[in-house]
Amino acid sequence: MVNSDLYRGDKVVKFQFVEPRTVDEVCTLLSEYEGKAKVIAGGTDLVVQMRAGKIDPALIISINMLGLNKINYNIDTNVVSIGSLVTNDEVSKSPIIKEYVPLLAEASRSIGGRQTRNLGTIGGNVCNASPAADTPPALMVLGCKLRVAGLRGNIRSIDVMDFFKGPGLTTLEKDEIVTALEVTPIRKNLAGHAFLKLGIRKAMEISIVNTAIIIELDPQDPAICQKARIALGAVAPTPIRAIQAENILMGQKLDDNCINQVAEAAAQCSKPITDFRASAEYRKEMVKVLVKRGIQQAIQEAYKKASK
Ligand SMILES: Cc1cc2nc3c(=O)[nH]c(=O)nc-3n(C[C@H](O)[C@H](O)[C@H](O)COP(=O)(O)OP(=O)(O)OC[C@H]3O[C@@H](n4cnc5c(N)ncnc54)[C@H](O)[C@@H]3O)c2cc1C
Repeated sequence: MVNSDLYRGDKVVKFQFVEPRTVDEVCTLLSEYEGKAKVIAGGTDLVVQMRAGKIDPALIISINMLGLNKINYNIDTNVVSIGSLVTNDEVSKSPIIKEYVPLLAEASRSIGGRQTRNLGTIGGNVCNASPAADTPPALMVLGCKLRVAGLRGNIRSIDVMDFFKGPGLTTLEKDEIVTALEVTPIRKNLAGHAFLKLGIRKAMEISIVNTAIIIELDPQDPAICQKARIALGAVAPTPIRAIQAENILMGQKLDDNCINQVAEAAAQCSKPITDFRASAEYRKEMVKVLVKRGIQQAIQEAYKKASK
């Protein structure tokens, strides 16, 4: 353990720093410090929060020596496993992710600028629990399960839908960390996806609204929607699924009238706030625009795949 410090304005903030070699050591330290220790991965959220004085951990535990930085696809189980320390840049460029879960590659590519993506990790993006984070909506529609490690080798799995409790709050226990994220690729010809993000600028921008959408078309009649998943970010205290909107699509003909109704229902599902980035009213309007465009994009992709 070493003494460390960082500047908060002109004030020097002191803390201790440690870089364990095993998950067990990390969980034991988290337990001993009872909420006064924080895990650091890339630090792109954590250090910003420390500098702003939002958090003041006594101990920073780096998880960078745990080897949680691999991406695998298991052909037998049809599961893609992504180590929590895989950077957002690696997720966006990984041939495995691009082939099996391209929606996630697109969401990761939209995060910040290159430097931020090179440092920031997928585990950090999820565990930071920002309502505006870009990968959680994609992970929600992909049915992601988080692999979680706790004290004494305890391992459990949390459905990403049960993970977020509020801004910065998750269902992780104080002594737990996320070790991997697992997603099952949708291997259907008649399926398409979209990830759309609205920010003030085109790059280096936190979402005003984002949406991840997967549409599966009916093989008997590709004009009909068989299954739909729509998730939204930055419009509620946590990322959300727009279930009522999804239900409208199920078994329906995908014409303009239906898509407009779905976009309206998605806006009704959202509970945005007004902040310095945008007003609540603007966010609701933009949910309609993004969901409509996203559905159209997903349908086009499904048709394109089917015609190959
Ligand atoms: C300039 C800039 C632009 C940005 N733009 C975007 C953007 O466009 N979209 C976006 O979504 N985000 C953006 N971010 C936020 C940030 O880059 C991402 O959220 C990043 O993925 C966080 O990962 P990290 O490894 O840096 O997390 P850290 O900062 O290391 O950790 C974040 C939080 O998660 C916890 N944590 C990290 N890993 C684990 C784990 N495995 N288990 C348990 N807890 C863990 C930490 O204790 C901390 O509370 C931006 C940040 C900056 C500085």
